[in-house]
Amino acid sequence: MNIHEYQAKQLLAKFGVAVPRGHVAYTADEAEKVARDLPGPIWVVKAQIHAGGRGKGGGVKVVKSIEDAKAAAQKMLGMTLITHQTGPEGKEVKRVYIEDGSAIERELYLSAVVDRKTGTIAFISSTEGGMDIEEVAAHTPEKIHTISIDPAAGIQAHHGRTIAFGLGLSGPQVGACVKLIQNLYKAFVDLDMSLFEINPLVVTKTGDLIALDAKVNFDDNSLFRHKDIEALRDPDEEDPAEREAQKHELSYIKLDGNIGCMVNGAGLAMATMDIIKLYGGTPANFLDVGGGATRERVTEAFKIILSDANVEGILVNIFGGIMRCDVIAEGVVAAAREVSLNVPLVVRLAGTNVDLGKKILAESGLPILSADDLADAAEKVVKAVKEAA
Ligand code: ADP
Ligand code: MG
Repeated sequence: MNIHEYQAKQLLAKFGVAVPRGHVAYTADEAEKVARDLPGPIWVVKAQIHAGGRGKGGGVKVVKSIEDAKAAAQKMLGMTLITHQTGPEGKEVKRVYIEDGSAIERELYLSAVVDRKTGTIAFISSTEGGMDIEEVAAHTPEKIHTISIDPAAGIQAHHGRTIAFGLGLSGPQVGACVKLIQNLYKAFVDLDMSLFEINPLVVTKTGDLIALDAKVNFDDNSLFRHKDIEALRDPDEEDPAEREAQKHELSYIKLDGNIGCMVNGAGLAMATMDIIKLYGGTPANFLDVGGGATRERVTEAFKIILSDANVEGILVNIFGGIMRCDVIAEGVVAAAREVSLNVPLVVRLAGTNVDLGKKILAESGLPILSADDLADAAEKVVKAVKEAA
């Protein structure tokens, strides 16, 4: 799960990370009030969307008066902000953040991720912070430093010092950096983050280290124990189909192909997407209906798949282990009727009561294409979609 910059800054501040003072606003009048409560003489108005690259897209304005802060907020609210992370359709700005302007000496880069390969938390830092970190990574990767922190041993002062020296910090800034890294590590672990990115982390003219931007992702599987974080969810930022799927405990990720997939088990879902590709098609989604796929769930899954206008065919690939194939077949038939299915549907069933399941599909009177194995199913759905086009 993602949250907005201002929410991330509030959370990090609780862990002792220095951030500029500021407040969120939903209207230009609110923005004016927030600006009035800040001392000035520089204010920064920042569009709150779940995407980076706002500065380059016109979503960050540095202003020198309360009137200009209000005007900038007025202009940003309701605009569709397009950045390299939003895709060409952009994102509508519904909230802005107004914060103190910092006098910047240097812009640094600092982030942390769960490194699955080494089973550690990796801190990534660079002296080349600011708006072009992707360019730095592509052209001068030697300027990006990574250190791994073994969660069993935890964070040590030397980690912070290594990062500080890599960032070219000296004097009291080294100690401040050590403290910062410790605070960030604690926030990362305590809040079950999967990633945070502070770009830029700035050194101010007075020598302080301040997080000027903050992006945080959380591990969705941990949200049950962080109700306060779950409450920060902004439905405007999420795909409506993915949200609907979540309600029904379906794991659904929208992709950009045209063959909808309904599968039980994440591994089988991945294999199904692979084999669709192998036969020249492109999957429209990843969808795992889970182990206990009831008729209701299968119906919801169909509705969600079909809510995607790109879908031109569906492949149902179910392994009946605990589930029986006849129950699944009944679910598929009922769901296909309920949603008045208008695209080709290929069903591959395997496992318990498979013959009965196939019989139910065949006798349903619905134009369902039955397949025997993964390859057969993929070939059939790709072909059916091509013929229907
Ligand atoms: P994004 O990464 O989405 O472009 P940032 O929050 O990183 O947005 O802002 C972009 C740039 O705007 C920063 O690199 C910094 O130069 C400037 N900036 C952002 N916030 C402030 C601030 N509070 N004071 C001064 N400059 C700022
Ligand atoms: Mg940034």
